[in-house]
Parts: sequence; C-alpha cells; structure tokens
Amino acid sequence: MKILKIPNLELNISNIYCIGRNYAEHAKELGNKVPDKPLVFLKPTSAICFNNSEIIIPPQSEEVHHEVELVLAIGNKGKNIKTEHALSYIAGVGIGLDLTARDIQQKAKNNAHPWAIAKGFDTFAPISQFIDLNSVNSLQNLDLKLEVNGEIRQHGNTKDMIHSCAELIAYLSNYFTLYPGDLIFTGTPKGVSQIKPGDTIKASLNNNLIQLDLTVR
Ligand code: ZN
Repeated sequence: MKILKIPNLELNISNIYCIGRNYAEHAKELGNKVPDKPLVFLKPTSAICFNNSEIIIPPQSEEVHHEVELVLAIGNKGKNIKTEHALSYIAGVGIGLDLTARDIQQKAKNNAHPWAIAKGFDTFAPISQFIDLNSVNSLQNLDLKLEVNGEIRQHGNTKDMIHSCAELIAYLSNYFTLYPGDLIFTGTPKGVSQIKPGDTIKASLNNNLIQLDLTVR
C-alpha cells in the first residue's frame, strides 16, 4: 500500500488514471492528432515512487522519456460528476512524471496494443508532495517545469490543457467511480526527451511551490 500525504490528510493511493495528448504542442511533437475526447490509460500502483527516489531504467527499454504533469488527488467518492462540481472532489495537487518507455510504446501503437507495459514499470510514476487546492489560485494557470542535469527540457502551463482538470474529472467519472486516493495525471506539455542512468531530474510547479527531485539509475 502506498500512502499519499496531503496536509491534514493521508490517503491510500488507489487507481492511477492518466490522460494522453492533453496539450496540442506535445501531441504534435510525437506526430499524434489531438483527440476530441480525453485519451485515458492507467498505471499500476507499483509504479509509484516519491520525492528523492531513484528512477530505474528497465532492461527491456532503450528509450525512457520524462513527461512532467500536474497530478490531482481525489478526496471524495463520485460517479457521473458534473464539470461545475468537479473541483470539489480534489483533495490535493502535486506534480508527477508519467515516465514512458517510448520504444515499447511505439511498438504497441504500431500493433494497436495497450500501453500498460510502456507506462507501467516500477518507478514510472514518481510523485511530489501534495498541497491542498487552496494553496493554488487556479488549476488552469500553473507553471510546469522540468530540468535534466540543470537544463530546462519542459516548460509549460496548465492554461494550455485541451481538457481542463474539471472536465477530466467529469469525463473519467462517467466511466469509473472515483475513490479517495485515486490520482489523475493530467497530460504533459511539449519537450519530452530521453533520460539516462546518472541523470538528475528536477521538476517544479509554479516556481518551486512544489519540487520533485529524482535521480536515474
Ligand atoms: Zn503523459
């Protein structure tokens, strides 16, 4: 069981929902069309690791990419949630990396196979500390930055999301009952690139409001 600590609250991490292609510039850089509905996939909880962890490059992949993302933690059970009520289901916000074995994902895409393995290795879902929703002004104006070895690789803003956080919660809840401890990775801005053993990764939300520091083994 992996525990998510939010100020005054501890949640057992439950389902990990992820959204693909939620920023137009990122969809374009991988040669993908922008979907008209959110593209949903899941990661196993075994992929979770925390701040100051070591990322493990699996022996099956030659090309693991970072994707920095805003991550939402659900605090209340809900189904068929309306967009206008969706933000009240959020217990906390953090940042995370949707690490991706791009070579394995590319083969899966070519064969119309699922992405579970490409997205689901151990340590492929590192997450920061979480803060409560009151600590941010607007979920749709948050700066996301990722540096590898001190060099900025990704720098985006949640205002460029195609589907807002509220829309994502409403959409997911049409299909799945959301539970306290569920996480939603909300998609990555452009600039994804490869990480290698020995790299140092630093991700941050809104100019170090939250930081996530990792090394790569
Ligand atoms: Zn992603």
